Amino acid sequence: MAPDTRPSERLDRAVIFLGPPGAGKGTQAMELAKHFGVPHLSTGDMLREHVGKGTTLGLKAKPIMERGELVPDSLVLKMVAERIERPDCAHGFVFDGFPRTVAQAKYLGELLKLHGFKRPFVIHLVIDPSVLMRRLTGRRTCKVSGEIYNIYDRPPKVPGICDADGGELVQRPDDREEVIGPRLHAYEKQTAPLAAYYRRLGLLHDIDATKSVDEVKRQVLQSVHSVRGVR
Ligand code: ADP
Ligand code: AMP
Repeated sequence: MAPDTRPSERLDRAVIFLGPPGAGKGTQAMELAKHFGVPHLSTGDMLREHVGKGTTLGLKAKPIMERGELVPDSLVLKMVAERIERPDCAHGFVFDGFPRTVAQAKYLGELLKLHGFKRPFVIHLVIDPSVLMRRLTGRRTCKVSGEIYNIYDRPPKVPGICDADGGELVQRPDDREEVIGPRLHAYEKQTAPLAAYYRRLGLLHDIDATKSVDEVKRQVLQSVHSVRGVR
């Protein structure tokens, strides 16, 4: 049966996208959030906004992000806890890039319980690491909408310009080759163990992220629909 695409469809839970940098978390999280009419919560975007504004958090996070390391749990958790208390999160939300450590996952579990949400739905984007360099060095993001392109595989119609709103497309400073290595290392060491953590809890859904954006999207929706409302 074709998935129900009514915007009134309710998520009522947190969705978590797990996968290495470049796996397609942002691309898919944005689509899924749009589908359910809930916020897309990218901790990377939130941190970049703090860096851009020069807030106290931004000043602390900037050098860490430039090195491709993870920002300390305490800072990220406070930022997330404040964000999900806002009214727009009442019917669920889609995380992208959070949680990234087992400590963050445990804290999130408590936070969701506290706010009365059902257990989260975790989508694990499984991908061959050899693809990631091309995806990351080719990534360009719209300064206005955050829409994600790839100069090799998903180019905009006009180079450097967002198809959706004409915004300027920029390259993230941490998408340079010398920072990609440390980011992938941080993923392997600190974030990859989360797959086993969520698998043990029976919450993990593996998706083959090497496929096209549309095919991954189709599989993600199918997976979400297969359990939504059941647990
Ligand atoms: P992440 O949030 O996991 O770091 P993104 O969603 O930003 O990943 O995607 C990384 C890059 O790969 C972007 O340039 C994006 O356009 C591209 N991309 C995402 N999904 C796919 C896919 N299924 N096939 C090809 N390219 C993709
Ligand atoms: P992303 O946009 O998800 O690729 O994140 C960019 C950078 O922001 C990461 O390399 C980290 O330095 C930082 N960051 C984003 N999310 C988190 C998180 N949940 N925990 C720690 N650091 C994070």
